[in-house]
Amino acid sequence: MPRKPKIKPPTPQSRRVGYAIVGLGELSVEELIPAARTSKESYVAALVTSELDKGVEFARALGLKDSDVYTYDDFEHLSGRDDVEAVYIVLPNSLHREFITRAAKMGKHIVSEKPLGMNAKDAQKIVDVCKKAGVLLMTAYRCQYSPHHWAARDAVQGGTLGRVKLLDSMHVQVEDDPTVWRLQQELAGGGPLPDVGIYSLNTLRFVTGQEPEWVFATLHQPKKDRRFREVEESVSFMLGFPEGVTANCHTSYGAFKTDTLRVMGDAGTLLMDPAFTYEGLKLSIETKEGTMTPSFPAYDQFGLEFDHFAQRVRDGKTPWTPGEEAVQDHVIMDAIYESAKTGKVVKLKSVTKKDAFRGTKPTLPSEKS
Ligand code: NAD
Repeated sequence: MPRKPKIKPPTPQSRRVGYAIVGLGELSVEELIPAARTSKESYVAALVTSELDKGVEFARALGLKDSDVYTYDDFEHLSGRDDVEAVYIVLPNSLHREFITRAAKMGKHIVSEKPLGMNAKDAQKIVDVCKKAGVLLMTAYRCQYSPHHWAARDAVQGGTLGRVKLLDSMHVQVEDDPTVWRLQQELAGGGPLPDVGIYSLNTLRFVTGQEPEWVFATLHQPKKDRRFREVEESVSFMLGFPEGVTANCHTSYGAFKTDTLRVMGDAGTLLMDPAFTYEGLKLSIETKEGTMTPSFPAYDQFGLEFDHFAQRVRDGKTPWTPGEEAVQDHVIMDAIYESAKTGKVVKLKSVTKKDAFRGTKPTLPSEKS
């Protein structure tokens, strides 16, 4: 009897979901395209870029045809490509809505990078457009597909830490190129808050499964520094979760790279440091029994994200992080900016349902130890 192969054969290309990657910037080139190439249920079928030559060179290296490369003006030509079932928008934030709208009109399912829009109103319009067109929309909150983050969530919600009392999170980095689109309000919609601070906000909502009831924030914008003429350098914000649980967060483009998450309960403390990097996440959970440092088989957050969405394209179910999840982040970020401007606590609409804005749970690679 021949032995059964131990490794499951990859899904044939014909059954995988073909993606068009829209925007060939750093994230696409360094992370997304390599991740899609190792994915089991997705593949890159087309590229959309303003730089046709760069796109063609890149397509050839990927084994695609020159005709698989489209310019932004040619984007609608994808409507004739049945093999392109989904598009992944990886453009500056202000362009997300335009390209999502154009993709939805073609009937393509859509993954968009974070932040979904420029503010809550813009993000809600994006959700509405996709609903009307009957296409799926997922916001690329990669950490919500990471086994480390799910283990943190299980510890928080499963009682390992006792009753959760306090949380804190930081995501800061130095942005030193004054010409980058991230420092232009019209392209970015804000400074570090919608770019990196959003990780703290989104992850705190994810690990607790709850929504804040109020926010309080301060902001620093040294306009004499040419980098911060249009957007803030730093934001410090507090989030008030139900039952008096309070979170303290910092985000900045002016401080050396730090990304952490801490949850303090009456029977234990959880620390992730780093908490938001692409690789090398570290989780430790300390209780009176000792310190646990769970480890996991190697995984790629972007690959897991691609495959989760491919599964939803196949079964038509709502992805775990749909557009609504991003609208809620925008509602809270808008309130953070309002609080920083007025110096007052801003109350938020009460949401009592757990995971109120999320869809179908992702399947995770199993824990090693
Ligand atoms: P980038 O600057 O490296 O690339 C942006 C791409 O958009 C380039 O291909 C550029 O040519 C194109 N573009 C089109 N119009 C442009 C314009 N008017 N100005 C500037 N560029 C223009 O940016 P990036 O780091 O790849 O970020 C793209 C998106 O991905 C953003 O929404 C960002 O928030 C998000 N992002 C997410 C993560 C993550 O971990 N999920 C990490 C980095 C970036």
